[in-house]
Amino acid sequence: MENEDKYIKNIEQYIRSREPANRSGLLLGESAKRLDISISDLRQIEKPYTFIYQRLPVEVEGEILNLSSGIVLHNRARGPYKGGIRIDPNVDIWETTELARLMTIKTALANLELGGGKTGIKVDFEKIYKGLKGKKNFDQDFYQFCDMLKTNIMREFVDHFVERGLVRIYIPAPDMGSSSREMMFFYNRTHDPASVSAKPDGIEGWLPGRKEATGFGTAYATLKYLDQIGKDPSKVTVAIQGFGNVGSNAAHYLHKAGCKVVAVTDLYGGVHHRSGIDIPALKEYTEENRTVKGFDEKNVIDNEELFKLPVDILIPAASGHVINRKNCDTLGVRLVLVEAANMPVSYEAFERIREKGIELLPDNYVNSGGVIASDLEFRQGVGRVRYNREQVFEHLEKRFDEMFDEMTERKAAAGSLTHAAYDIAVERIYNAMKARSLI
Ligand code: NAD
Repeated sequence: MENEDKYIKNIEQYIRSREPANRSGLLLGESAKRLDISISDLRQIEKPYTFIYQRLPVEVEGEILNLSSGIVLHNRARGPYKGGIRIDPNVDIWETTELARLMTIKTALANLELGGGKTGIKVDFEKIYKGLKGKKNFDQDFYQFCDMLKTNIMREFVDHFVERGLVRIYIPAPDMGSSSREMMFFYNRTHDPASVSAKPDGIEGWLPGRKEATGFGTAYATLKYLDQIGKDPSKVTVAIQGFGNVGSNAAHYLHKAGCKVVAVTDLYGGVHHRSGIDIPALKEYTEENRTVKGFDEKNVIDNEELFKLPVDILIPAASGHVINRKNCDTLGVRLVLVEAANMPVSYEAFERIREKGIELLPDNYVNSGGVIASDLEFRQGVGRVRYNREQVFEHLEKRFDEMFDEMTERKAAAGSLTHAAYDIAVERIYNAMKARSLI
């Protein structure tokens, strides 16, 4: 027994010693101090319940590629593990761990009866594609190839997922690199509408508005803040990094509200129009071409320049840590930084931005529209209820209003909206763990 304890403790210590210091860990620690939570209880809140490493052998043009994937099940004190599937070349286990932890915090902040988890699947599509380009009889374009490879990956991944008994224990959703198309493979295998969220339109248990929910929430949170400080939306300029699901929908709703979106970038290119980009035209273009590159070759911008642009609102809606120690002093944003991506601002940059007097709307709040809608979709799956589009958007607005009021109320005592968001979430997670005798 003693040996076994030592063995488990050693594994935990090993895992803990390897995880690099990160923003969510630091903010959790600060919250625990404010809330008078002991270090040992804090550790239980902080660390994941389970790590799963899964090798995925997938076939590409007659060859087998062994890809790495990781599932981190962080905390289910308040309900099933919930969190997206990221398919990206830069995935690593610590990124997946932090993203899973953020999901626990996000679901608690939104007061959903869900916990937090995350999946990372590491694939370098461009590198593999380049390697195949010269091969005889290989004539797929890049995006056809990505879809084909994702199909093979998802079939393999879902098989393991079901075999491990994770159905309804961990409920996946899209994240960077995945979409409703990839979620469909879960439903194809489980035939259970509650096993996955963001199912394609028209499939049993699908939710109208789920696709737009994260971008809608991002825009709603931004407009709510403008309203609080008495700023007219038609008088502000916006720059957005990332024009995928979140960035493009946020741009759509902000444009509709009268904001001037002056610059947008993605992985492959960018566009800058001082007088404001025609967002409906750009959306139409990217739906066809899957990138903003080529929309206007005369007015291009890259990510580095985008961050330096003097704009009122900056919305990073792509990957993590893009605003960091290196570029935080040259940021051009004047008013508010809206974290649509997960952890786009590193801890050091976060401190600098606060010192400069720029408001930061935190990721756990800003991008929670997706999981709030997923929660409704899950309720449909288990309860046979139906929500229409109006009800979904009304529900999102109500939740965002509640979260913002709660955060604003605790801002002064906590120090910032970000700290307030952590305090609210940590209190709820701690109380649930206590009530369930988990700590
Ligand atoms: P997506 O795959 O649909 O789009 C990602 C976009 O970012 C693409 O335009 C891509 O080209 C761009 N991009 C990727 N890396 C980039 C880089 N290094 N520089 C510039 N652009 C880059 O992904 P998404 O679902 O829109 O997710 C974006 C962010 O929002 C992620 O951080 C994700 O975790 C977060 N998020 C998404 C959801 C959701 O419902 N989809 C919910 C909550 C949070």
